[in-house]
Amino acid sequence: MTTFTDGYQFINGAYRVGSGGTHIRVNPATGAEAETIDYASPQDVEDAVQAAAAAFPAWSKLTPGERSEHLLNLATALATHADSLAELETEQTGKTVRMSHEFDVPGTIDNVNFFAGAARNLQGQAAGDYAGNSTSMIRREAIGVIGSIAPWNYPLQMAAWKVLPAIAAGNTIVLKPSEMTPGTTLRFAQIAVEAGIPAGVINVVVGSGRDVGEAIVKHPLVKMSSFTGSTAVGRRIMEMASESGKRVHLELGGKAPLVVFKDADVEAAAHAAVAGSTINAGQDCTAATRAYVQSSLFETFTHQVAELMNAMVVGDPTVEDTDMGSLISEAHRSKVASMVQSAVDAGATIKAGGFAPDLPGAFYRPTLIVGAAQDSEIVQDEVFGPVLVALPFETEDEGLALANDSQFGLAASAWTKDVNLAMRAAAEIQAGCVWINEHIPMVSEMPHGGYKSSGIGKDMSAYSFEEYTNIKHVLISHDTDVHKEWQDTVFRQR
Ligand code: NAD
Repeated sequence: MTTFTDGYQFINGAYRVGSGGTHIRVNPATGAEAETIDYASPQDVEDAVQAAAAAFPAWSKLTPGERSEHLLNLATALATHADSLAELETEQTGKTVRMSHEFDVPGTIDNVNFFAGAARNLQGQAAGDYAGNSTSMIRREAIGVIGSIAPWNYPLQMAAWKVLPAIAAGNTIVLKPSEMTPGTTLRFAQIAVEAGIPAGVINVVVGSGRDVGEAIVKHPLVKMSSFTGSTAVGRRIMEMASESGKRVHLELGGKAPLVVFKDADVEAAAHAAVAGSTINAGQDCTAATRAYVQSSLFETFTHQVAELMNAMVVGDPTVEDTDMGSLISEAHRSKVASMVQSAVDAGATIKAGGFAPDLPGAFYRPTLIVGAAQDSEIVQDEVFGPVLVALPFETEDEGLALANDSQFGLAASAWTKDVNLAMRAAAEIQAGCVWINEHIPMVSEMPHGGYKSSGIGKDMSAYSFEEYTNIKHVLISHDTDVHKEWQDTVFRQR
């Protein structure tokens, strides 16, 4: 049971009760009512944006060293709350407490530490006398108030990925977590203020996408919309932002292929396919969802994947030994189950899972499907559940073409011991990340972001500063002539 007795809106450094109605949240792993969440009203959104705008001048004028110190203090403070954050993350999402403890919380803290360092090391082109009689230099400037919207699958990490590059670069932020999982985002903002980050730098408003999300995106003081979520909503954000020419940063859906060539270590590929497709109950935008396996390895691969999936322990996420917890909601489990059923109706075969265990929460067994058509829904659309589809291929060209035959391009993996083929796959697969003989690991130092319908822009890494800063060219003339030579092109000195 999680309750925020002072309200679910964190504005200008303090909690308040939102006046935009209420919503009962259900614990996805038990089906029991967990809390009543108040939603932000238009006035609450207005107050949050005004608080961020008021905090901007002072925050953006701090030196990078001062902002870095604030972030280092935040990392230390988060570490002291690691256990309670992990428990809350599990309670609101249904993910295993093992994941929350070993992945979500430490990943968030590592991200804070990375941006504490990166804040002091913003990169740009070296100053140079490109026009001969003047020096050009680059300034990187904060943009202003950033409006960010996050999904429910990794609530704490997604909040961190939005907040950190934004505030490290000197911006202030109004962040809307998913209304299904606001808890750890609110705690993150509260801990930030307790650690000394000034009130108003990070504001959190909670409510529906249609009301609160759209109000943030459309607000004239919000200079950039940064969004992580589905491709459909990302398109809507882009449409709204286009009305005022606002900058957008979009991290959208994925349908990652895992391509196994005939010389690969098939056992390693099978282990990665299982971990990669069931991580976070498959509710991961980079999850392995399409396994393309060269035909000589297909039987071995699918047999091993099915065995490993069937051995997984699915159930109570608060138990340390559980491998996979629940999906985010009963409605989402129904959607996953109906996509699997449609695949079967269209002629595919289930080799593992394909059913919901007899438990009260929104659980679904890890599922392996074979025999689906490349152009079918289960291969082309995002399931966002623990479902892997395996298809055979004959030639290297075919394997790479199938991997690219998708509207998405977020992440992919290729499995081979041949260095030439590995390099070819890295170059030809159209995705923001290509793993070779691995699937899933991400690091704070490296960018994450999509090609094609998977988005625009990068999270994490120094590259994310490209999104959250304006880059300004400053040219300083050291030509003392009154009439400069280039001006002759426009008018001659007579
Ligand atoms: P979603 O698009 O339904 O919702 C994401 C957020 O947008 C939520 O906070 C929601 O309230 C808000 N929202 C919904 N409609 C809105 C609107 N009209 N205007 C403004 N905001 C609106 O996504 P979800 O179901 O929460 O998350 C799952 C999706 O997120 C998947 O598609 C997944 O691939 C994607 N995702 C992508 C990444 C990435 O880095 N590319 C990471 C995690 C999740």
